[in-house]
Amino acid sequence: MIRINENYLKLQASYLFSEIGKRANAFQEAHPEREIIRLGIGDVTRPLPEACIKAFHRAVDEMAEIKSFRGYGPEQGYDFLREKIAQVDFQSRGADISADEIFVSDGAKCDTGNIQEILATDITIAIPDPVYPVYLATNVMAGRTGSFNSGRYEGIVYLEGTLENGFIPELPAEKVDLIYLCFPNNPTGATITKSQLQTWVDYARENKALILYDAAYDAFIQDDSLPRSIYEIEGAREVAIEFRSFSKKAGFTGTRCAFTVVPKTCVAYTGGGESVAVHDLWYRRHTTKFNGVSYPVQRAAEAVYSDDGMAQSKVLIDYYMKNAALIRSEIAGLGYECIGGENSPYIWVDGRMDSWAFFDMLLEKAGVVCTPGAGFGRCGEGYIRISAFNHYENVEKAMQRIKQALVLE
Ligand code: PLP
Repeated sequence: MIRINENYLKLQASYLFSEIGKRANAFQEAHPEREIIRLGIGDVTRPLPEACIKAFHRAVDEMAEIKSFRGYGPEQGYDFLREKIAQVDFQSRGADISADEIFVSDGAKCDTGNIQEILATDITIAIPDPVYPVYLATNVMAGRTGSFNSGRYEGIVYLEGTLENGFIPELPAEKVDLIYLCFPNNPTGATITKSQLQTWVDYARENKALILYDAAYDAFIQDDSLPRSIYEIEGAREVAIEFRSFSKKAGFTGTRCAFTVVPKTCVAYTGGGESVAVHDLWYRRHTTKFNGVSYPVQRAAEAVYSDDGMAQSKVLIDYYMKNAALIRSEIAGLGYECIGGENSPYIWVDGRMDSWAFFDMLLEKAGVVCTPGAGFGRCGEGYIRISAFNHYENVEKAMQRIKQALVLE
């Protein structure tokens, strides 16, 4: 008899974005004359930088010629891209990362989800709350949790983000083996300082733990004193894996390119306590189960690092950050406590009421869709996430409407 992986039955229905869609559609049907502005989903709205488009076209043309055609490439990515990444994203900031420690992939979502495959199933895992849901769901699928009770999976150590700690969780009271961190954070937009991140690296070193550091939003950091990479922190090479993505940095959400950094000195242990290089395990996993990102996409990603590409990507980021600044100042001006929006494209707002009630109020009174914080975990209850990924004119209009609706409250 064929049997299923019953861990999948523990997963909670992922109803957040479908419920948002359902409520927005019902509103539109009831009020066909009202225009809805969507500041919910975190997807980019601006086209790819021109330098990327040119490189993309050139690479497609190469594929049309017998002399320049390319078949399978190296699974871990072409050297032309890995070298640029190592040099510009890491070495230029004093982070000691080399090209052969970079694994190019088709998304940070897949990588953050797949990485746990190389680790034991009976480890203790610390996951933030609120959280990007992939970290939690992939560990549930792998059988690392018990069942779901009162909004939480048994067996997970939740790292609570609150207004009091500025959504930078404290170190766990108990000993954990694997720690997920994400800065700048989705959904809260919170950022971590170098000294705060140092305490996590020190904890990992003392406890022989591993940190999975998701820096998918590094490009939004405006304050140069904040770390863009965990490898700017002393001792991180031995205890941290980092995830990056071109999705938000250069508008690649539909083009698909990302990378994972696994330093050769990063270790995990056998049951007998013997240390093993995590790089070797991930190399084996990646090259066995993945056949590389397409050549034209890697050429387009390489172009992000050209002078034109850097300037044009900065224009994209500046565009969204102008939206974020407007959202933050308008919402804070209405008297709501806000986190994020200064070094991240998300603004996390204390709604001082049930998340879904706040969502419904913004939809009905202002025709604006946001994301209820409760969908990201128990600690998200009472908050909403507003995304800066939209056209400036729409953001301006949305803020105008919210102001009018809430001032009239
Ligand atoms: N990590 C975080 C925190 C994200 O918010 C997202 C996308 O929204 C991803 C990873 C996924 O990135 P990618 O498009 O590279 O799969």
